[in-house]
Amino acid sequence: MSDLTNQIPDTKRTKSLKDFISNHATRSEKTSWNRKNTNLAKLLTNNVNPLEDSIRDLQLQLESLYEDVKVLRTEMVDTCVHPVNGLQVVDRSESSTNNAVKCTFCDKTMIAVEVNTGDDN
Ligand SMILES: [Zn+2]
Repeated sequence: MSDLTNQIPDTKRTKSLKDFISNHATRSEKTSWNRKNTNLAKLLTNNVNPLEDSIRDLQLQLESLYEDVKVLRTEMVDTCVHPVNGLQVVDRSESSTNNAVKCTFCDKTMIAVEVNTGDDN
């Protein structure tokens, strides 16, 4: 929004041009419009700006939490125990000899080299 109060000083010509344009509105219309302009400034100062400040504070808190999550997740990936509910067998067909298992948490794919699949009982 443009600032109506911070303008360069008028010459006679510029004042005349501005008056010509602004005098198309009646005094009543100008009074009404100026009241709205005052209300707009109050709305921005009292409601919008504090809320924007709160949002900025919350964003900073959130960024800090995201950093904590990132640090913890990185540590958990580095020390991953490959929890069973995060494991996916790459080739699920019963006849497959591909024993690759992918961990969806750490994204590693491992080969089960010695596994009892129950076939030789
Ligand atoms: Zn894992």
